[in-house]
Amino acid sequence: MPSFNPAYLDWNATAPLRPEAAATMTEALARTGNPSSVHRQGREAKRALEQARRQVAALVNAAPAEIIFTSGGTEANHLALRGLAGRRLIISAIEHDSVRAAAPDAAILPVTPDGIADLGALEQMLAADARTALVSLMLANNETGVIQPVGEAVRLAHRHGALLHCDAVQAAGKIPVDRRALGADLLTLSAHKIGGPMGVGALVASPDLPLQALQTGGGQERGRRAGTENLPGTIGFGIAAEIAARSFDDYARVAALRDAAERRLLTMAPDAHIFGITAPRLPNTICISMPNVAASTQVMSLDLAGVMVSAGAACSSGKVKRSHVLEAMGVAPAEADCAIRISLGWSTSEAEIDHLVEAWGVLYARTRASAA
Ligand code: PLP
Repeated sequence: MPSFNPAYLDWNATAPLRPEAAATMTEALARTGNPSSVHRQGREAKRALEQARRQVAALVNAAPAEIIFTSGGTEANHLALRGLAGRRLIISAIEHDSVRAAAPDAAILPVTPDGIADLGALEQMLAADARTALVSLMLANNETGVIQPVGEAVRLAHRHGALLHCDAVQAAGKIPVDRRALGADLLTLSAHKIGGPMGVGALVASPDLPLQALQTGGGQERGRRAGTENLPGTIGFGIAAEIAARSFDDYARVAALRDAAERRLLTMAPDAHIFGITAPRLPNTICISMPNVAASTQVMSLDLAGVMVSAGAACSSGKVKRSHVLEAMGVAPAEADCAIRISLGWSTSEAEIDHLVEAWGVLYARTRASAA
């Protein structure tokens, strides 16, 4: 085991649980009461659930009645894409696997080499087919951090009578997300990316939208998601959302740390490439290649040095598969296979960045020396 403090730089995979969320959840675990019960303890549970709903809604400027609590971002994406029957689906080429799996027959919207959805292509796709569509475009990509032109895509979609779903899992908490200003008809959130617990998320959807529940057998969540809510989880989600809503300033510091890290890495390794660097990006994400060194080798070598990052797209089995995001951006397979994702968060320190730069630099120098 390394004798120094590890540097956790994998925040896009999951963020640490906010201590305030952990404390409130611990208290909630000790209480009994189903939010659907009419007696006093049930009503208390219901009050706590509705408080969480207000806190989550406030983070994205939505109405509390629009929040449908789910078991996470994956379920919310499935509900969005499968709950509106009869629409033809258009998803961007860089969506998270949970969107791609929920819409296997969707038409694919291409992206530019910078990783930005091609709105000209979207316009053509919408105009080419009169059937009403549902477009799914994420707000920020989980691998590159590239921010998507969702507001413009919403306007285009609406002009063609289509609806737009936005996966805002990575953007929420890192940049302000305003559901009303964006105009997205459906928005996905996940608690564990913003300092809440794993296994809780939300789909934001107007109560008027004809959304079919995927799981039925209970009237919870206005009949849109049956099953007793994960009350401690939603309470933790609510607290994390409330803290996130007042903590955007932290990300100015994170952006400065990220930019400095990128400068240092590129100075050391002029042949390295940072994907999406010329596009608007989240303040915390670096997607960088170390030419001719497999991403899995980099991840393992950095792990041994006490630095935790991920390969561009590690699937749940831990195996590394080629990134469909970089592929869609036109990155050559050999280069895509050498890309890792480094992601920072509100408590990332300068010392952690020094640690990363040093460990990455040692590996880079070693691999260049052995290639010479
Ligand atoms: N959407 C995006 C963009 C993500 O990055 C993730 C998680 O990595 C998800 C959806 C899935 O969220 P969850 O882990 O809550 O199922």
